[in-house]
Amino acid sequence: MGEQHHIVMLPFMAQGHLIPFLALANQIHKRFGFTITIATTPLNVRYLTAAIANNSTKSSKINVHELPFNSCDHGLPPNTENTEALPLNQIINLFHASTSLEIPFRGLIDDIIIRDGSPPLCIISDVFMGWANDVAKSYGTLNVTFTGGAYGTTAYTSIWQHLPHRLTKNDEFNLPGYPDSCRFHITQMHRFLRAADGTDSWSRFFQPQIGYSLKSFGWLCNTAEEIEPFGLDVFRKYTKAPVWCIGPLIPPSMLNRNSSSRVIEQHAGRKPGISPEKCLQWLDLHSQNSILYISFGSQNTISASQMMALAHGLEDSKRPFIWVIRPPIGFNLRGEFKSEWLPTGFEERISKDNQGLLVKDWAPQLDVLCHKSTGAFMSHCGWNSIMESLSQGVPMIGWPLAAEQGYNAKMLVEEMGVCVEITRGVQSNISRDEVKKVIETAMGKGDKAKEMKKQAEEIGELIRAAMSEEGNKRGSSYKAMDDFVTALVSNGKGLA
Ligand code: UDP
Repeated sequence: MGEQHHIVMLPFMAQGHLIPFLALANQIHKRFGFTITIATTPLNVRYLTAAIANNSTKSSKINVHELPFNSCDHGLPPNTENTEALPLNQIINLFHASTSLEIPFRGLIDDIIIRDGSPPLCIISDVFMGWANDVAKSYGTLNVTFTGGAYGTTAYTSIWQHLPHRLTKNDEFNLPGYPDSCRFHITQMHRFLRAADGTDSWSRFFQPQIGYSLKSFGWLCNTAEEIEPFGLDVFRKYTKAPVWCIGPLIPPSMLNRNSSSRVIEQHAGRKPGISPEKCLQWLDLHSQNSILYISFGSQNTISASQMMALAHGLEDSKRPFIWVIRPPIGFNLRGEFKSEWLPTGFEERISKDNQGLLVKDWAPQLDVLCHKSTGAFMSHCGWNSIMESLSQGVPMIGWPLAAEQGYNAKMLVEEMGVCVEITRGVQSNISRDEVKKVIETAMGKGDKAKEMKKQAEEIGELIRAAMSEEGNKRGSSYKAMDDFVTALVSNGKGLA
């Protein structure tokens, strides 16, 4: 594999997609020395460039290529190139707008052909950028789709392809690809998917894009073979294509439990609302496994009434917590946080005795999860958050909100036994008592908490073993990356 190969990557424009794509680029470049070009819109190029600059290995060999994009041409607010500040009902415009990148993306491939003398070895694209499959075919190269977990990806793709909930009046339904014993529930889907009938704007984007992705040469999953055997079995049968589990691609310092480095590199290129050092100092004040960390990912928030109930329940629980807080649904997510969204005097009370730390908008999540004081993670169950948490043996309280999060939570509860769900979505009512109760279940002295912790620790071990790079202890994810690159190179030769 001595040749200088070139791989082009095409992530969807969302923080939770840019982060693993950059990690994948770093990994392939570091292991095989290939040239990697990540193509995205100007604002997302800035995030990637900032994340690369923060990275201790300074992966200067990762090229980041700007694809011109003007959000106003697509009915989006000015300078909107990422899901982060968009309300859910406008996100669909960003999805449709992403297909306009095909023309400049083809221009990039043309330029590469002129420079390198041949098309790239492969285009690795996001499951939402299915059109890349056509581009790859027309240039005589391969397209591979990169996704998160196998269980959630199968459920998400199968639901979009078949809309099985439309065929029944029941709230529960079977899903093609899954055995009949594995039933799905309408509340695990977000409201636009529930309403989808194949003709609406959401279906018109997701059905074809997912369909094209299912025609790709194979799939890279940001998961480890050993942690979701059932999910991988259904995924392989569903896609009928090669699947390489090469993850979870989290910073190496998170995988080394004896690492002396205190602050983990910032992986997102977004400025946290508190410095990692201050956050660590606060965590140091607390005892082992005592803190509940609460975050709904890079772009989500909850409703105003849920926020109130969560705040009251946290206070009632008397447990210490770090809460990444954003304005509730219906308000500008990037706007100022108003104290009226929380109970009167809440912030003063929780800071007086260090019970709670509110972090506005963005936290140094990896530092929090790696700290020994962190005992559980209340999460929207985005795939990156799940992997980051379980790699540290931290069990979860699931509050899925959108995308494939409901199915991820189902797997965490039913297959892994590392999670209890508090509620689903932003329209549900929760009470302060329910909040207190679920925290007690996950973090108290009862059997459930002990069992979840034990399972999370075991999965953490499996993750570390799968990612091991050490000589004769090389793990399954390390080897899968070799297999993937071998398949690309041998197929590339076949095509030439
Ligand atoms: N993240 C972070 N700080 C925050 C919120 C999120 O660093 O305050 C990172 C988190 O570590 C993860 C990513 O953003 O890598 C979120 O990805 P995930 O798949 O969990 O959710 P998404 O944002 O895609 O819904």
